[in-house]
Amino acid sequence: MLVRRPREADIDRAAIGTETRPLRVAIVGTGPAGFFAAQTLTRAAGLHLRIDLVDRLPTPYGLVRGGVAPDHANIKRIALRFARVGADPRVRFFGNVELGRDLTLAELQDRCDAVLLTTGASDHRRLGVPGEDLDGICSATTFVGWYNGHPDHADLSPRLEGAPRVVVVGNGNVALDVARVLSLPAATLQSTDVAPAALDALSRCTPERVELLGRRGAAQAAFTAAEVRELGRTDGLSVHVDRDQLPADAATGEDRALRELATLAARPTSDGVPIHLRFCTSVSAFLGDAHGRLRAVRLVRNALEEQDGRVVAIPTDETWEAPCQLAITAVGYRGHAVPGVPFDAERGVVPADGSRVREPETGAPVPGLYTAGWIRRGPSGVIGTNKPDAQAAVSDLLDDLVGREAPVAPPPDLAALLSERGVRVVDWAAWERIDADEQQAGAAEGRPRRKHATWDTLLQAAGV
Ligand code: NAP
Repeated sequence: MLVRRPREADIDRAAIGTETRPLRVAIVGTGPAGFFAAQTLTRAAGLHLRIDLVDRLPTPYGLVRGGVAPDHANIKRIALRFARVGADPRVRFFGNVELGRDLTLAELQDRCDAVLLTTGASDHRRLGVPGEDLDGICSATTFVGWYNGHPDHADLSPRLEGAPRVVVVGNGNVALDVARVLSLPAATLQSTDVAPAALDALSRCTPERVELLGRRGAAQAAFTAAEVRELGRTDGLSVHVDRDQLPADAATGEDRALRELATLAARPTSDGVPIHLRFCTSVSAFLGDAHGRLRAVRLVRNALEEQDGRVVAIPTDETWEAPCQLAITAVGYRGHAVPGVPFDAERGVVPADGSRVREPETGAPVPGLYTAGWIRRGPSGVIGTNKPDAQAAVSDLLDDLVGREAPVAPPPDLAALLSERGVRVVDWAAWERIDADEQQAGAAEGRPRRKHATWDTLLQAAGV
């Protein structure tokens, strides 16, 4: 049968963002940047819209669920605000849907006016030293994912048996989280939403000693003051900071994190798992036993030198070995390339001018494609930092699209495509089933929730 395509002149058109022709936005990645963007869009006065939230996980909230430490319940409360956005009738959730696997970017673009990429930074940076793949070494990305019930990391079985000596490499807030969670008393962990397998493993074993290594000095550490203060105030930990490692004016200077370190250095040490902060020290090699298991680290003392306005660590001749059965590298995250999506592999981000994604080769903007959050600017800042970032992306998107004329006839529906392909979509109601199930199981144990931490149990609880 001959299908006659309507002439351009016969197609009814209307301004995007009106009741006749609502704006259609797909947001890929439902961490803080994705939800702040959706929240901003839903609050735009007079705008008619539909938002499709797409996430490869069956659960929303990204790092709020899978990254924030279990003992930071207050930070997680932001999820309550995000939940109101997810439940908005103009918003649909497509969990367990992976861009590049279940559908292509082109297919998604055909089904909306704009795609906003907020996929975060889920890969880890490598240290690049010999022995990094020995049994007993893992990245913070994996370790944090494991204790937070991220289904990609459910199989991790960190070497916690006995009383291991642990080295945590890195001087950022993630390194502090890892050192703290490893050392928390079982009773504290028991009242959190730490993943069940991690609760079991961490409660049974207490490290003998945790070393937190910074390659540069205390003045260059990336810790924030609040996190250092918290480390010092956590019951069951004994934090050791050597006064000689701090700048002379640490206690009185402008830098709040340094002042907190000086307070820790001046304090008598208490009972509890000893956490030693050691600066100007790098791991130059991980050393294994005959079975390929980590047994020690080779350390090197660094001198600091200023190069092009930046203080850099230069290894000296002073090296030594320290016994160590578990090492966690917390040296930063990296964005992950999505097939078909422009990517700057060197920086691990989606290349963009502001929020407008551009082709890496030509620099030309890709119409209708935007980005925000860690995948745009790299893994820096706290959860709230993503709010202005997401708002800027929404502002660019609305400037480009609202009021432009487009065919009134709706584009093909994303739900229909995924259903044809047999994708087990977790919609908002299905996520709410997971949520309710976890909270109910948690209440029985006096905990905020008992997380489902594997793909199978998550999809089962979702009922999809
Ligand atoms: P980060 O703050 O960038 O810290 C990374 C650390 O790794 C730095 O100390 C860096 O040292 C070190 N490093 C990098 N490469 C290294 C190498 N080859 N050898 C030794 N050390 C190396 O990253 P993050 O800790 O992953 O945190 C990511 C973001 O999340 C940060 O903005 C952080 O504040 C935020 N966050 C916030 C919270 C909270 O507010 N509670 C909790 C967790 C994370 P150099 O400085 O020498 O490069």
